[in-house]
Amino acid sequence: MDACDELLELITQAKEHLRYYQELGLTHVGAAEEKPPVKLSPVVEQAVISALPPAAVTLASSNAPSIETVAPPPAEAVETTPAMNTKDQPELLSLFDAPAAPAASAAAPTANKTLEDIRRDLGECQRCKLWTTRTNIVFGEGSPRAELMFVGEAPGADEDATGRPFVGRAGQLLTKMIEAIGLKREDVYIANILKSRPPGNRNPEADESKACKPFLLRQITAIKPKLIVTLGNPATQGLLETKVGITKIRGEFQPYPRFPGIYVLPTFHPAYLLRSPDKKREAWEDLKKVRAFLRGEITL
Ligand code: URA
Repeated sequence: MDACDELLELITQAKEHLRYYQELGLTHVGAAEEKPPVKLSPVVEQAVISALPPAAVTLASSNAPSIETVAPPPAEAVETTPAMNTKDQPELLSLFDAPAAPAASAAAPTANKTLEDIRRDLGECQRCKLWTTRTNIVFGEGSPRAELMFVGEAPGADEDATGRPFVGRAGQLLTKMIEAIGLKREDVYIANILKSRPPGNRNPEADESKACKPFLLRQITAIKPKLIVTLGNPATQGLLETKVGITKIRGEFQPYPRFPGIYVLPTFHPAYLLRSPDKKREAWEDLKKVRAFLRGEITL
């Protein structure tokens, strides 16, 4: 390989690396404490710099603060609970109303420090305009070892006020839906596409999702659920990057190529179910699939 090929390869690797960081939502690259800087000749250095996006050059050449310097978040973010056990639940008598039998089982312990890292990286986020109108960031909550994750659209007024996902009327219905399949809220993990409330609960805008979604993807990476239930259209379309509508796609297990081995099951948003109670029957069919999947009764 001659010097020119070597240089080209170096540039390609640097670009790939930066793209990876951008996908993860990292805007600050930590100071190189562990590795001494690579010494390049001035000619090679100039060629590498001209191949990088301007933001990366600014980061590389400035004393940008390390991600470790971001103020720690309030301790609200992560709860540790026993893993779920979906087996041995009595058949339900009515939709989402049956009392759940206690769930208990041992789980392989996994450190939850990664979720805390993600929360710290998020900081007092100003990556999109929503920081100007929100009260609290709603990071997500639940078991860091959850096998089941729910993803909604964005915080509403109650969530914005409390900093917790799905605590309003729709949230109370979601809690009932979770309990209807024999789980507790603390057994699962609940998050949203957006972590800040859009004014007037309007739909997420493209720039907001683009800024926020990398943090959700990092949460999924940390938790490694078996199944993600997306709630409603914006959550389903946002996570799966599809234009297919919820009515068409709900109740169908979707492979999630971004995370091989993790499946996505779209269903109706609980707020929609509150407005259209006749749709609860279909939502219950979807939830039974969730329960069967977690019990190992459905293999995909
Ligand atoms: N609706 C959502 O999509 N998410 C919440 O957290 C609350 C309501």
